[in-house]
Amino acid sequence: MIYLDAAASTPVRREVLEAMWPFLTTEFGNPSSVHAVGESASTALAAARRAVARAFDVRASGVVFTSSGTEADNLAVKGLALANPRGRHLVVSTTEHEAVLRSADYLHRRHGFDVSILPVDTQGSVSVAALQEALRADTTLVSIMHANNEIGTVQPIGMLSDAAHAVGALVHTDAVQTVGQLDTRLGELGVDALSFSGHKLGAPKGVGALVLRGRLELEPLVHGGGQENGRRSGTESVAGAVALATALELAEAERAADGDRAADRDAFIAAVLSASPGARLTGHPVERLPGNASFVFDGLGGEAVLLDLERRGILTSSGSACAAGSTEASHVLLAIGLDEDAARSAVRFTWGRETTGAQLLEVARSVGDITASLRALGA
Ligand code: PLP
Repeated sequence: MIYLDAAASTPVRREVLEAMWPFLTTEFGNPSSVHAVGESASTALAAARRAVARAFDVRASGVVFTSSGTEADNLAVKGLALANPRGRHLVVSTTEHEAVLRSADYLHRRHGFDVSILPVDTQGSVSVAALQEALRADTTLVSIMHANNEIGTVQPIGMLSDAAHAVGALVHTDAVQTVGQLDTRLGELGVDALSFSGHKLGAPKGVGALVLRGRLELEPLVHGGGQENGRRSGTESVAGAVALATALELAEAERAADGDRAADRDAFIAAVLSASPGARLTGHPVERLPGNASFVFDGLGGEAVLLDLERRGILTSSGSACAAGSTEASHVLLAIGLDEDAARSAVRFTWGRETTGAQLLEVARSVGDITASLRALGA
């Protein structure tokens, strides 16, 4: 099997499983308990928090563990907007994950916020000029993702942050697809808040974090015992936090040692385009994730290509995992100007460091064979 759906999820790494195991078994305590078993859990939780903080170059107090990337996005958008009422105006982009889009919509419907939704160009990029035009004296928060999960486009987040900060707005970025793949230190990106998720980088599903720079007010969404410094109640998943920190440290060490992963990606893209006449790359050709290649195959159904690939042991996706099974065309593909038919012909290939250039070229040959036979059948 060749698994090319890493943007949807990744397996838990052995080192991660080993690091979290004691906190599921012998060291099972509640980190709020005062006895020795509780203390061992709270020590591990604090160490995990410090490790996550180190990776993003923030203080440990800036790390809020959550149950997912989705929850971290919700906490960022709603929590920052409600606690920092500079005004009731928010800016997001059209290609954000639903976790951000629906949080912004909630603030609009229930709290009277105005929401500006920035368009993207045909390669999926947000322009600084468009942001500058949308910013207002009452803009509280700008939330623009670091890279898109479907088309892989990496946004010019530093320049966008500068523009937002120039009017005093806070900046959040959804970095679920970039943590462990690109430099995501908050100071480098220039953002105030960043969300990420464990299961995209070798930790289990059900853990994520919101990382904050400096002392930022955050309105909690989950009320209760006041864990996570009152910002996210609920007994912490100690094993989850340890897993998240371990996976992050491993990914960051590997990132530092990486060769040019973009070269394999570009060779794969070129091979697919030449093996499959009629294929078009979606997203930015250069400013894109090192492990993402996404295409539309005009005149074909993306699902048909996907199923034929699976018959050959190659697992891919027709769009975002969250949209899988839905019949609606992807909002991201429509936002870059594709029509519904083209959007339904999309196939996304995403992979991690363990996938070799040779495997990718083998996949490109299969894509060529499959699309040629589907075209011959008129599928
Ligand atoms: N944001 C982006 C860009 C994603 O790709 C995803 C998951 O696919 C999420 C948020 C949601 O993360 P989680 O699956 O941890 O809820």
